[in-house]
Amino acid sequence: MAPTDLELVEMARRAAEQAYAPYSGFRVGAAVLTREGDVFTGANVENASYPVSSCAEATVVAYAVAQGNRAIDTVAVACIDARDVEQAYPCGRCRQILAEFDTRRILVSVSDGPWREHTLGELLPHRFRL
Ligand SMILES: [Zn+2]
Repeated sequence: MAPTDLELVEMARRAAEQAYAPYSGFRVGAAVLTREGDVFTGANVENASYPVSSCAEATVVAYAVAQGNRAIDTVAVACIDARDVEQAYPCGRCRQILAEFDTRRILVSVSDGPWREHTLGELLPHRFRL
């Protein structure tokens, strides 16, 4: 049975606790629900060479795709160190990554309380396509 939105958000929050974020101090977790109903979690992994870092969304999508998934239903993102949910939104690169796998919904949250729900079109209305 597919997880509820609350369960997916809680998985993202737990995943954030595994983040490696010694430079930004922003621990982010993400939980992906694929169209097939599989769930994967990941966290951000920073690097002393900043551009080498991987966002939580990029980490978990790469893993889900490497397991054979090609379509994402929902991604929950949680930044447990952000005070304001505005600081927890996926970056532009991650929005394009989510677009590649036709992500339907994105849930954005901080460490507790309500989350915001968006469609991919709301966050990336004119995605790059080939
Ligand atoms: Zn990102």
